[in-house]
Amino acid sequence: MSMSPPSVNKPVSNWSPDMPSSRPNNSPWICHVCDRSGQGESIACSQCFKVACPQHIRHLTSYDRDSGLYQLLPVCFDCALKESLK
Ligand SMILES: [Zn+2]
Ligand SMILES: [Zn+2]
Repeated sequence: MSMSPPSVNKPVSNWSPDMPSSRPNNSPWICHVCDRSGQGESIACSQCFKVACPQHIRHLTSYDRDSGLYQLLPVCFDCALKESLK
């Protein structure tokens, strides 16, 4: 009888946070600002396309010249900060 060394079989984690946005409505999501997880409807930032919880999403009005209408764009905390630093 020979003792074989324990095989080192590390699971390879190939999970990437940049999944395509075609996710079902009831899938869990994680806010990229505060790491809070939630389930159900998620809001993605219109600038960086990352998901954030309602506390970290703001809706900024932007004027659309083509239609002549004001639009509400979801913008995350990070991008809103960058906007205000401009
Ligand atoms: Zn958050
Ligand atoms: Zn953003």
